[in-house]
Amino acid sequence: MKKQVVVIGLGRFGTSVCKELYRLGHEVLAIDTNVDRVDYLRDYSSHAVVANATDESELKSLGVRNFDHAIVAIGDNLQASVLCTLMLKEIGIAKVWVKARDLQHQKILEKVGADKVIQPENEMGIRVAQHMHSDKIIDYIDLSNEYSIIELVASAKVADKTLNQLNFREKYKCIVLAIKRQEEVDIAPLPNDQLQLGDILIVMGHRNDLKRLEDRGI
Ligand code: ATP
Repeated sequence: MKKQVVVIGLGRFGTSVCKELYRLGHEVLAIDTNVDRVDYLRDYSSHAVVANATDESELKSLGVRNFDHAIVAIGDNLQASVLCTLMLKEIGIAKVWVKARDLQHQKILEKVGADKVIQPENEMGIRVAQHMHSDKIIDYIDLSNEYSIIELVASAKVADKTLNQLNFREKYKCIVLAIKRQEEVDIAPLPNDQLQLGDILIVMGHRNDLKRLEDRGI
């Protein structure tokens, strides 16, 4: 479904969010005080406007209240980012996602009503470390502090065995959500589906159980 998103602050993070949302077909209003950055985004957004996002009347005159989603990516200017978040919530934007520079910034943003706070460098750092730590995990998504989804490559050890024989659910309390084989994705695989060497298994479970599965290897 097409979303209407306002992106405020067009540094590297704001710019990539804006371009990608626009590429995906959403309506994107890009705002920054910096003329060059706004100019650059003219071809990669629905509207790109020079405005001060801490000025409530400017935000209102841009019709920001009609947007369902806002991304605030004002970098180191903590005061501006907090004020802008507060105003967007007061204007009535349902989802306000904000980039924070550190934990203290994050806590303030949560207090003023941010619906999601992102620390890109921190999150990316953890992701890179996770990838480096494990040669077996291709990718992962944290569902909560306890549960994750990971992608594991099937080795010769499990080739030609069925999911039933491997019995991940009993042994590891993990569920195989899907199996990727080259370009094909088999969602909700059946107990008698047979694995092949190189298959990518998308597995959901408790972090500790996934760790056991990963350590043992598949
Ligand atoms: P990154 O490039 O990694 O995203 P960053 O978070 O430090 O780094 P900056 O390069 O500082 O991002 O970009 C923040 C942007 O926010 C700048 O382009 C700046 O002009 C813009 N900005 C700052 N204050 C306001 C404001 N009040 N209203 C609109 N834009 C603002």
